[in-house]
Amino acid sequence: MEETRTVIFDLMRGSQAPISVFDDQDRLRFANDAFRATFDLAADAHPTWAEIMRSNWLGTRGTAITSADFEKWLTSAQSRRGKESFRGFEADMQDGKWFWMTETVGPNGWMLCIAVDISTLACADRDLRYDRDLALRASRTDELTGIANRRQVMEKLDELISGNAGGCIAVFDLDHFKSINDTLGHAGGDAVLIDFSRRVSGAVRRTDSFGRIGGEEFLFVMPQTPIEKALALLECLRQDLRARSPVPERPDFRYTFSVGITEVTPGDSTHAALSRADSACYQAKKTGRDRIVKA
Ligand code: GH3
Ligand code: MG
Ligand code: MG
Repeated sequence: MEETRTVIFDLMRGSQAPISVFDDQDRLRFANDAFRATFDLAADAHPTWAEIMRSNWLGTRGTAITSADFEKWLTSAQSRRGKESFRGFEADMQDGKWFWMTETVGPNGWMLCIAVDISTLACADRDLRYDRDLALRASRTDELTGIANRRQVMEKLDELISGNAGGCIAVFDLDHFKSINDTLGHAGGDAVLIDFSRRVSGAVRRTDSFGRIGGEEFLFVMPQTPIEKALALLECLRQDLRARSPVPERPDFRYTFSVGITEVTPGDSTHAALSRADSACYQAKKTGRDRIVKA
């Protein structure tokens, strides 16, 4: 067994297919030479996936990113990355190569990524497949913020309920959003929604899902997470949000959110869990906002 492991490891290291392993926080834990060459990484570098994408985008290397707004692209890509136990997709690279990328996610949230260069394969139907992928992606993405849309995150909630392994869900509603729109204008309100989505996306773990379910309402799905851990995570987010200004031109401007959180128990239904979280969020509003209430 030990010999087999060593051989597998050596084969992966030597493979010309870029191979990498990321942990549940999306930090690079293993990469072979082919992966490091593709993304211009030093032999001892262990950045996060977001850091790899950002430095490659700045240096016009690695994955071809067509969006003019890198941060929006990143948030959107993060909302899909590693959210299925397995997925494969095509991606084109800055140097014109075309890769078939696969992601395999383990129960602990670690992910194996294997890319295969398919540039020389027949390119018939490539545009068609590309358009189909874009349409599929759009159907699961919230257009304004780039995070998962209602359909996508509700699917994750259904999976959590039917999986019977427990976890927590949280419903967020931004506080006094009408007056934020009045003060900053509708575009300013939109910028706050984008800021909020990015900040929370940056904090979610691989196994979590976070999506926009209404105007300024969001759902956070945390499978197999004890309530104490979920509460600590939300409290971190709440403090983080209060500490930083989202609008550079208005350094004094801050916004807050109210959250209702509930633990999903065996035999729970999607409807029951969601209404508990909703009522808890309502309680948070009633008792003064900028707080987390547990149902
Ligand atoms: P509360 O603290 O009680 O939640 O007060 P609120 O003002 O946030 O009240 P409510 O949740 O009812 O208001 C939501 C507002 O969000 C109403 C709507 O004008 C605004 N809104 C909804 N979708 C969008 C959007 O996409 N962009 C912007 N800028 N505003 C939106
Ligand atoms: Mg609301
Ligand atoms: Mg609100």
